[in-house]
Amino acid sequence: MDLGRTYKNGENLKLRFEIDGPILDDESEGEFNYWRLQPGTHWLPEPETAGQGYTVDATIAVEKPYVAIASARTVSRTETPTHNVVKVTMDKPITWFAVAAGKYKSLDLVRNNRTVRAWCYGGVPSTAEQLLKTAHGILDFYDALLGGVPFDEINLVEVPYLGFGQAPAGMIWLTREAFNPTADLEARYVAGYGAVGGWANRMIAHELAHQYWGNRVKIYGNGDNWLSEAFAEYSSSLAIKAMKKKGPGVYDNIVADWGVRAAKVASKGTIPTTQYMQPRFSDKGGDPESAGYRQTILYTKGAYLLACLHRELGDDAFFRFLRLYQKRFAWYPPSISQDVPDMLKAITGRDFGPWMADNFWGTGMPALPK
Ligand SMILES: [Zn+2]
Repeated sequence: MDLGRTYKNGENLKLRFEIDGPILDDESEGEFNYWRLQPGTHWLPEPETAGQGYTVDATIAVEKPYVAIASARTVSRTETPTHNVVKVTMDKPITWFAVAAGKYKSLDLVRNNRTVRAWCYGGVPSTAEQLLKTAHGILDFYDALLGGVPFDEINLVEVPYLGFGQAPAGMIWLTREAFNPTADLEARYVAGYGAVGGWANRMIAHELAHQYWGNRVKIYGNGDNWLSEAFAEYSSSLAIKAMKKKGPGVYDNIVADWGVRAAKVASKGTIPTTQYMQPRFSDKGGDPESAGYRQTILYTKGAYLLACLHRELGDDAFFRFLRLYQKRFAWYPPSISQDVPDMLKAITGRDFGPWMADNFWGTGMPALPK
């Protein structure tokens, strides 16, 4: 596109983009009537992560009987003879705006001026209320640990499969075991046994933590993704520790499990470069285990390093570190990995540069401090 002249840094420019065509068709999923417009898939103009930070006003119409769901606060829901229409607004600068649509029914729970809404595929199961209570409990915990919850409306949207979650701004996609952990044998198994401390709670706590890490504190680029993934994963273990029926024993088991799994792959790559590692599958051999390296190094070793720092600093200094981070990098500018030793120095007066060099930039695997 030719803008006719060079624009000054900081100068505002209003651009209007239009796309049409069956964009949702590409996202339709097998037998299910649901669709997702996901961040990073170029359905809206998106610059590199470092340059993003936008507010949104959107009007979304979908054919009846389907409904649309979006990142952001709901302004209104109306209908025409043929379409259901939702208007939303997002007044915080975000990077990951997302839209979902499909055969959904919803249930709300409002607490502390915050709405959490469950969008259940095909109908609302009786277990949805428990999900909303759990989500509010976790958000109350993060509110105390990390500062005010970044969004006052959070939509939890069911994806009718098993075993994953994803967290755009103010919206979280969760698979069906989170909505109904007792729906059937498969859901029961995944919800209960997929991870130490219970997969469903771990996943919900991890995805809710992304509202802080990844959405409010933004990452500069792919090499800084641990600021989103490892910090969310570690925060989730603290949320599990605070749960009534879980507690410190489960937290210790989670940290020990991270340590064992991270030690197995730590020599295979470093946290900032693992984001660029591609699984090397081929019929001529290759290393099938490499598919898991990215996940284990980025999430698991990353969270384990934070557990080591926590042990080293103690509750008081470590929690101040997390809170200062959230305050210093709230919404903009994005954070880079070098900010971590800077924040640690501000809190402790100590130089964590060499520790980062060994364990973050390098392949080091420290022992958990006593
Ligand atoms: Zn994540």
